[in-house]
Amino acid sequence: MNGFYSIAIDGPSGAGKSSQARAIAKKFGFIYVDTGAIYRTVGLAAYRRGIDRKDENAIFALLPELDIRMAYDENGVQCMYLNGEDVSKDIRMPEISICASDVSAHGKVRAYLLDMQRKMARENNVVMDGRDIGTVVLPDAELKIFLTASAEARARRRLLEHQSKGIDISFEEVLADIQYRDQQDSSRDAAPLAQAEDAYLVDCSETDFDETFDVLCRLITDKLAIDPEN
Ligand code: C5P
Repeated sequence: MNGFYSIAIDGPSGAGKSSQARAIAKKFGFIYVDTGAIYRTVGLAAYRRGIDRKDENAIFALLPELDIRMAYDENGVQCMYLNGEDVSKDIRMPEISICASDVSAHGKVRAYLLDMQRKMARENNVVMDGRDIGTVVLPDAELKIFLTASAEARARRRLLEHQSKGIDISFEEVLADIQYRDQQDSSRDAAPLAQAEDAYLVDCSETDFDETFDVLCRLITDKLAIDPEN
C-alpha cells in the first residue's frame, strides 16, 4: 500500500457502479474517479471530428491533441474538460456511450490513458470505477468489487435515468446499447471487462440502491477496517 486506500469497482454498463461509488466516496471521504468519463471524452472528441472510431491509429493520433482534465466541483462531482471546455454534460449523451466503447477497445488508447488513472490513486484515497480497474489499472487495490446485474435490470434503471434527464429513448434502444457494449467490452483483446480473481461479486439484479449500498459498505468496513466519515 502507498499510504492511500484504493477501492476498485468494475462491472458492466448500467450496474449502478457510478452512483454506488459516488455514495461510497461521500460516506468514507474518498475521491470518486469515474474512468468511463475519460473514455467518453475521447469518444466525444472523435465523434465531433468525424474520425472513424474503429481506426486505432487514427484515434491514437488524435490523443496528443486532446488536453483531458478531471476536476471536482464544490459538491465533489467529477467534471471533465476537453481542451478547456467543460464537456461533463455532452459526454453523457446516449450516442457518446457507443463512441466511448469503440475508442476504448484500442490497446494503444488504453495504454495512453493508464497513467492518468494511476496518478489519481497514487495521490488520494480513491474509489475508482470502470471495466479493468481491479485487473489492470489498480491490480493492488485494497478492495475489489465486481458489481453486476441482468441486462434487463440494468436497462430498466438506465431508462429511468435518461427519462429523469429528459432524454427521449425507448427501453429497446437502451437494452440494445447495453448489449452492444457488454459484448464489445467483454470480448475485446485489450483489458476486457472481467472480474479480478480476488474481487467480490455483488449481483444487484434483485436489490435496490440502498440494499446494494449496505452490502458494499459492509465489505468496506470489514475488509479495510475503516469507518465512515459521515
Ligand atoms: O462507465 P461508462 O459506461 O461511462 O463507460 C463508457 C465506456 O467506456 C464503456 O462502455 C467501456 O467501453 C469504456 N470503459 C472502459 N474501461 C473503463 C471504463 C470505461 O473500457 N475503465
